[in-house]
Amino acid sequence: MLNALSVDVEDWFQVGAFENVIARDAWDGLEQRVERNADAVLALFEEAGVKGTFFTLGWVAERYPALLRRIAEAGHEVASHGWDHKRVFTMTAATFRADLERARIAIEDSCGQTPAGYRAPSFSIDKRTPWAHRVLAEEGYVYSSSVAPIRHDHYGWPEAPRFAHRPVAGSNLIELPVTTVEFAGRRLAAGGGGFFRLLPYRFSDWAIRRANRKDGRPAIFYFHPWEIDPGQPRVAGAPLKSRMRHYSRLSAMRPKLLKLLKSHRWGRTDEVVASEQSRAS
Ligand SMILES: [Zn+2]
Repeated sequence: MLNALSVDVEDWFQVGAFENVIARDAWDGLEQRVERNADAVLALFEEAGVKGTFFTLGWVAERYPALLRRIAEAGHEVASHGWDHKRVFTMTAATFRADLERARIAIEDSCGQTPAGYRAPSFSIDKRTPWAHRVLAEEGYVYSSSVAPIRHDHYGWPEAPRFAHRPVAGSNLIELPVTTVEFAGRRLAAGGGGFFRLLPYRFSDWAIRRANRKDGRPAIFYFHPWEIDPGQPRVAGAPLKSRMRHYSRLSAMRPKLLKLLKSHRWGRTDEVVASEQSRAS
């Protein structure tokens, strides 16, 4: 079964965990590492012989148009991660629409592709944003992969469906939630990011097999370019828990990813959306 491989393209200083420590207007003065890290991801995908989806911030697309062209020319899907990583539940429907528009224009100007897919920063579409999927449908998006149907300290919508569904009546927009597993009466996050990096390899490997075989559905997996960059600057002022999550096991990430990429079938998110169309409720 084809699983969705995705990368959320943002730099080390743009993550939700450091939001209260690093101001947005300081970003341009910081060491920029996203281009070399995303190039390392491209090399990794080439080595593994896989294609994937790069959910990219408009802020990054505007500054690194050549990177966006390299991603598109290598046959990967370019999709949107919003403008500057503001979480959707901090916006109104109107400011969300403006954020989408600004990111879309930056992506189109950089590589000529109109994003069909959107991923909310920090999976921030939840019960506080009942308008968000409707705005995406109105803006012409084919799919969203913006919901984490779990309970987590920073995000999550535990009541949301676990698999592809159509959240807007009268629209074909598909929401493809990040992968979870149900085990012993609990729902666990298993779609990547820090969970993949911090937990033993065999947990993610098991969770993907379980999604494919027991649930009969594709896994939706994601990670970030900064997760394969052990040399990134350390942010001193952030809470200890955030720093432990962000900096742990960075140097083990690349070989771990390569093993995962070679152990399952992976493709672009838009391909997986196409195969899920008939099954989405
Ligand atoms: Zn992000």
